[in-house]
Amino acid sequence: MDKLRYQVDLLTALNQKLSSNQRMYKTICDTSRNAFLYYAFEEDRIETLGNWDTFFHVEIHDIKDISKLYDQIQEAYIFPIRDALFLEKSGETSTSLECCDAQGKIWMECEVNVNYDSNGLPIDKVIRFRDITKYRRQNDELAYMAYYDELTGLYNRNYFIRLLSDWVRSAEKEYTIISVMFIDIDNFRKINDGLGMITGDEVVQLVGQFLSELKQENVIVSHFNSDLYCIAIYNPVGARSVEHIYRHIKERMKRPFVLTDGQELNITVSVGIAEYPEAAGTALELINNAEIVMFKAKHTGKATIQYFNAPILNEFRTNVEIENKLKTALKNKRFMMYYQPQFDTKTNRLRGMEALIRWRDEDGRMISPAQFIPVAEKSGIIVQIGTWVLEESISTFSRWRKQYSYPMILSINISAIQYKKQKFVETLIEIMERYEVDPKEVELEITESVLIDDFEEVTEKLRKLRDYGIRISLDDFGTGFSSLSYLKGLPIDTLKIDKSFVDTLETDMATKVITESIISMVKQLGYETVAEGVETAEQMTCLLDMECDNIQGYLLGRPMPSEEIEKLLHG
Ligand code: C2E
Ligand code: CA
Ligand code: CA
Repeated sequence: MDKLRYQVDLLTALNQKLSSNQRMYKTICDTSRNAFLYYAFEEDRIETLGNWDTFFHVEIHDIKDISKLYDQIQEAYIFPIRDALFLEKSGETSTSLECCDAQGKIWMECEVNVNYDSNGLPIDKVIRFRDITKYRRQNDELAYMAYYDELTGLYNRNYFIRLLSDWVRSAEKEYTIISVMFIDIDNFRKINDGLGMITGDEVVQLVGQFLSELKQENVIVSHFNSDLYCIAIYNPVGARSVEHIYRHIKERMKRPFVLTDGQELNITVSVGIAEYPEAAGTALELINNAEIVMFKAKHTGKATIQYFNAPILNEFRTNVEIENKLKTALKNKRFMMYYQPQFDTKTNRLRGMEALIRWRDEDGRMISPAQFIPVAEKSGIIVQIGTWVLEESISTFSRWRKQYSYPMILSINISAIQYKKQKFVETLIEIMERYEVDPKEVELEITESVLIDDFEEVTEKLRKLRDYGIRISLDDFGTGFSSLSYLKGLPIDTLKIDKSFVDTLETDMATKVITESIISMVKQLGYETVAEGVETAEQMTCLLDMECDNIQGYLLGRPMPSEEIEKLLHG
């Protein structure tokens, strides 16, 4: 009896332990954020546990109910899920199955665990469903960041290069052409500076949105950075030819872009084209060369397209070489000043001279200022070069003036970048005072490009200089906007008629009439005239007839070193 009671007590205790274990497991399941499906093989019993109801909107009481689940799972994942549910995999199976519910919102990972008895037969299995949406989204975001540019949603630079490299490999095998279009918004700096960076970003976005419309099979569009975009076209023909795509871009640029505040903005772009295999053999080189020719498009007036050609690339390489050499040239004093005489047509006397820089590089070659001055301007080194020019020419002039007591004018070319530097006026005045040069005998030659950006500020500075007594001359007149109307009221003393007018004076009637009227009008405004690039006696006679005040050119004297000028002054 005691034995029996003992056995009953033992059974009760075991039962209690079992049900408390079950309770424990149930609690664990319920409090975990996962959903579980439990299946006992022998009893053919199925049970759902844990967070089942929040994940799945179907009740499962019987193995047949399983099929209801499939409605909630994306088609591609049904088979793997079925395997997880029905196959008796030995040991623990862990599969990373991704499925999502009807709204396509939840991503789940499903893990299967089968228990076996001592004979190796399956007893039961637990399938755990874990919500991995959060990780999945983070992964998606990381993947997105790796491929796309946040601002425009276009491919980013790195991914674009990767795709283009793949294309180059295919094109090599298939003997196909790939076009790379490098696109840059014109005057973007002005938009950014004038309207603010947020507006700048909006413009980048709007242009990006438009460019993304150009995407099609075999056409990829990317945003590199700032206002730079790149398009690549595999086998550019028909609707995906460069011409077709560029026409599309040009059409769009005719209409303004509308900002969120309602403001309308007219935008143009400059485009450079490089094609595989003609322009380059690798993705990076293609992009590089397309960018180089894009800069050429910028320089030739913007809002235009430039196709790659070898001379442009050579010019670019030469300029890079020049840029690298300029600094050492300045340090090693490789520059010299030449002076070209100007003559007064009424008195036939020397009016003065224009100071022109010369550069002999380490190999003894002369490099033309027409070539290196633009490079120096771009890199900013023109400011130091310009200061050296002031110092050198003003000191020489001062020596001449003290030696010869011959009244004359020293004309010095001033680049826009140099002129706009804050310290420019102070530096100039300091040098003139140091060499005791009369400001009335110094003339600054500026071009219209000085006036373009900030007319008010620039004219204010010009006035200051003139108040000090310095003369101002407008150089290369006729090559810029050539507008006579804005000349009125400009604080200048002299106007230089560009060589291009002088060149065709005798051959082109229209040029003759224009030049004549410029001279007479300029005289009425009270400015002095200098004609430059006069090479023939005929040109000179013509200019004398028109009563041009001064003549400068090879006919009367080439640019020469200071010793030659001294000979002139002697005689
Ligand atoms: P620019 O100011 O228009 O100078 C006149 C150019 O025409 C000079 O070229 C001069 O040598 C050339 N020239 C003068 N008469 C004749 C002629 O009868 N026939 C021909 N074919 N050419 C003639 P250069 O010295 O080669 O200078 C080129 C440009 O480089 C200058 O054009 C000027 O814009 C710039 N430059 C020269 N020196 C300086 C400088 O010290 N500072 C700055 N910022 N620019 C300079
Ligand atoms: Ca000049
Ligand atoms: Ca000139």
